[in-house]
Amino acid sequence: MTEDDKDAAEGAGKPAMALPPLRDVIARHGLSANRGLGQNFLFDLNLTGRIARAAGPLDAGTVIEIGPGPGGLTRALLDHGAREVIAIERDRRFLPVLAEIAAAYPGRLNVIEGDALKIDAAKLGSKPRRIVANLPYNVATPLLLNWLSAGTAFASLTLMFQKEVADRLLGQPRSKDYGRLAIAAQWRAEVRRLFDVPPRAFTPPPKVTSTVVQLIPRQEPLYPADAEMLERVAAAAFGQRRKMLRQSLRRLSPLAEEIIQSQGIAPTARGEELSIEQFCALARAFRGR
Ligand code: SAM
Repeated sequence: MTEDDKDAAEGAGKPAMALPPLRDVIARHGLSANRGLGQNFLFDLNLTGRIARAAGPLDAGTVIEIGPGPGGLTRALLDHGAREVIAIERDRRFLPVLAEIAAAYPGRLNVIEGDALKIDAAKLGSKPRRIVANLPYNVATPLLLNWLSAGTAFASLTLMFQKEVADRLLGQPRSKDYGRLAIAAQWRAEVRRLFDVPPRAFTPPPKVTSTVVQLIPRQEPLYPADAEMLERVAAAAFGQRRKMLRQSLRRLSPLAEEIIQSQGIAPTARGEELSIEQFCALARAFRGR
């Protein structure tokens, strides 16, 4: 590839017409953040570019962005070569701004006005589907659990969470962060922490540090188990975190102690001591009864 070819390839994502800086766009449209909708915006091009690069390659299939807001991350995704972006935004105040971005990248940005919790993202666009989002924190966990239950519909999920939620996604046995969320996420996906983002990077700044996490859904869950039963066992074990399993799991079956023992697990153990493999064994055993 010649230098000219490289320049052409890098410029392939750039808009045909230059867009004004985001802060000017916000001012021109008289927009302000609505905290109730978890609105903390990213204007830093280095940061949005870093997220877009981490999410790539973006030149095949569909990138699905949740909550584009004024479109900082959306622009970065398009500038980094996303072939097709489908963005779901609940706050209609942002639709005119997003329409300007769509016009600057003809045929590449499609905006859906709606609640991402009610839209089946697995049916949007074409494979490989990559979800990329600076998530509204109040709905981040239910959205993630929905996407994880869609199996391999998504090639990757590159998501900004509150750091505390990221820690819980990555939690390991015998740590305070290990629990239902770690089990649900790691059972279905490889989970990687990418980088932290300080509050000052957002407008307005949130109270807490954020973390970008990447999840790559597994072809098959880590160990066989029924998803609903695994969730019930984890919920029971961690709902009463300090209690021994023979007590905390009794609400699933009066034979809990016997079932736990049948899997070679001490009934006096606590949930946080078990590996995901052991949780799956318990889910199969409780289901069998
Ligand atoms: N992506 C923008 C950025 O990085 O600057 C905005 C991120 S802001 C943290 C979250 C965005 O999600 C807001 O634009 C908000 O209106 C939108 N949002 C909140 N709840 C939503 C929902 N249930 N479905 C779709 N969008 C939602």
